[in-house]
Amino acid sequence: QLSERLAMVASFVPKNTVLADIGSDHAYLPCYLMNKGKIRKAIAGEVVTGPFEAATRNVELNGFADRIEVRLANGLQAIEGADNVETVTIAGMGGTLITSILETGKDRLTNVQRIILQPNLHAIAIRKWAVANGFCIVDEEILLEDSKIYEVLVLERGSADYSKTDLLVGPVLRRKQSNVFRAKWEREMLEWQRVINALEHAEQTEEIKRKRANLQENMEIVRKV
Ligand code: SAM
Repeated sequence: QLSERLAMVASFVPKNTVLADIGSDHAYLPCYLMNKGKIRKAIAGEVVTGPFEAATRNVELNGFADRIEVRLANGLQAIEGADNVETVTIAGMGGTLITSILETGKDRLTNVQRIILQPNLHAIAIRKWAVANGFCIVDEEILLEDSKIYEVLVLERGSADYSKTDLLVGPVLRRKQSNVFRAKWEREMLEWQRVINALEHAEQTEEIKRKRANLQENMEIVRKV
């Protein structure tokens, strides 16, 4: 049984695609998609040996060793030109780490048409990366599972120019305005207010002042969403 979070990521994978799942851990996502007959071929990339071995075992257990290749590699280095990877998924990591994986390995994305990302936090870093690298956001989802809120971003090639508000909260999520979306930003604002209050009592160095101003600006942006 796949988590709702990974099922949401899976729902954006195009039919018959060649997939690379980076940071695949147990390779649950590619195995699930292969079981559903939704993908042609997959690469499951892992940089840590424990999860790499777990992924290898799970792929063999499912009988997919000929169609899902598990590779021990850092980020997008798991992909080679000859693989003709069309879709990339990176899920369950912070937005900053996901962004650095994309930035470091962008030369491997030549044939890639769609990138599906599920950052645990800091999705703004991914949106900024997309704009700077010729991708736009074609879809977004937000979901609540086990009292945690997750965002899923779908990138395709194209140019876009997002406002500060759209970069922060997501252009598509903002349009959809779901209950979970509103709950997420209410939670964030409570947390920001708590930090702003704490910073008011700290010594007012330039850095503290900058942090406060930044949080206050974000509060203003989100209040108007
Ligand atoms: N993608 C799965 C999911 O969403 O359930 C697993 C998420 S798990 C929290 C993150 C995985 O990413 C870990 O197994 C970790 O070893 C792997 N990872 C972290 N940095 C990586 C990198 N630079 N390249 C490949 N894998 C990485």
